[in-house]
Amino acid sequence: MRLFCFLFVLCVGVNFASADPTHPNKIKVVIDAGHGGIDTGAKSNSILEKQIVADVSSHLKELCSDKNVEIVLLRPDDEFISLKDRISEIEALSPDLVISLHANYSKDRDRNGVEVFVADNEFTAKSSYFGTKILESFKRKDFKTSTLQSANFFLLKNLNCPAVTVELGFLSNAEDMKYLNSEFGQKFLAMQIASSLDL
Ligand SMILES: [Zn+2]
Repeated sequence: MRLFCFLFVLCVGVNFASADPTHPNKIKVVIDAGHGGIDTGAKSNSILEKQIVADVSSHLKELCSDKNVEIVLLRPDDEFISLKDRISEIEALSPDLVISLHANYSKDRDRNGVEVFVADNEFTAKSSYFGTKILESFKRKDFKTSTLQSANFFLLKNLNCPAVTVELGFLSNAEDMKYLNSEFGQKFLAMQIASSLDL
């Protein structure tokens, strides 16, 4: 059964057609940096989730400039965008994939690592294909990861395209903070996601 699921995900995953005839394999990926403006997201002292995810988004755009991937940043600035507005702005872009970036916080300070979520909808197979690739690229670097998780988050569930939510680590964990709160670490996190976008 496991092998079947793996093969299924593998097969649907390679079936992407580009809208750009000069770059037949080019895909459009929207990066949805979570929170923004008055919505800071999780925080640890003065370190804010909204800033971390915006920084990782910018690194990701830079890293993908030579790839067969067009990255569109949904929130390049520190502004509040409601979830409903995010959905309509994303759908106007008709992306092949949406990556929603967040950072976690837990009362259990030992909890750490990257978590990836997909919704249970008609795009689950394609979303899972990318979600699995993202987790695998972190695993290859011996980074702590959970298994791909299903969650009907409002944004994931209501988007009309494949989408994943990536929780980049825990602001409440000292080891994760070395990555979340440093330029080196943020580039590392962005690099693992960028490497998973090679089709
Ligand atoms: Zn968040």
